[in-house]
Amino acid sequence: MGDPCIICVAITGSLPRKANNPAVPISVEEQIESTQEAFEAGASIVHAHVRQEDQSPSSDPERFARLLEGLKTHCPGMIVQFSTGGRSGAGHQRGGMLPLGPDMASLSVGSNNFPSRVYENPPDLVDWLAAEMRSRKVKPEIEAFDLSHILKAISMHEAGALGPGPLYVQFVMGVKNAMPADRQVFDFYVEILRSRLPSAQWCAAGIGANQIVLNEWAISAGGHTRTGLEDNVRLDRHTLAPSNAALVRRAVALCEKYERPVADWQSARAILGLPRAA
Ligand SMILES: [Zn+2]
Repeated sequence: MGDPCIICVAITGSLPRKANNPAVPISVEEQIESTQEAFEAGASIVHAHVRQEDQSPSSDPERFARLLEGLKTHCPGMIVQFSTGGRSGAGHQRGGMLPLGPDMASLSVGSNNFPSRVYENPPDLVDWLAAEMRSRKVKPEIEAFDLSHILKAISMHEAGALGPGPLYVQFVMGVKNAMPADRQVFDFYVEILRSRLPSAQWCAAGIGANQIVLNEWAISAGGHTRTGLEDNVRLDRHTLAPSNAALVRRAVALCEKYERPVADWQSARAILGLPRAA
């Protein structure tokens, strides 16, 4: 058997709405229920954004607080990761939930294009978010939308800017106008991270139909993987995914195919250098 594979479930995101797939959890209560089902299916990290009542993105710390409390009760041990991505707020608002002390938070370390706008991550904001995470013992997951983001993450890790434990990088491929799901680039991402920083751990996420492609590339190459309705709302061209758990089960099946045990929360915490106690 290979090394354990951590499955992260990105439950909601900023973009998909009930009109795209009624299974997208919007209210905090729906988010907790959907996460619990995904946790029971094999996910050990939940990546979460919060929404307002009208489904638009929110950065309201009060909503994040209710979500964190519910997840601690219903998914004990699961690693909770909040998004500091730029669709739900601007500037320091993006880190407004960090004082709640989730286990992890996503951190983008460079800018790039998104489908209809620039995804702006200016250096001073990146440094501020990283410092906030460090001071609150929140482990960053680096969102790499491009090669330069991986090299920037390595240099920040080596400078101690990302806190203790192994560097954890998420390769995101298939966002329109950013890096496509390109096998040669993916292999280069893996190779450069392994050669420059062998202690680093990595995960990969694909958008839309690329989700299952990246799941398979990552699982077969020894990495961790991300799934969930944030990135993709379909099982195939004709079928909507009935739940986040259904997408997790697809990743679990790939782990079986490639003889990777699915990491439980205890093992995921050990791999990432997180405290054992929830
Ligand atoms: Zn996200």
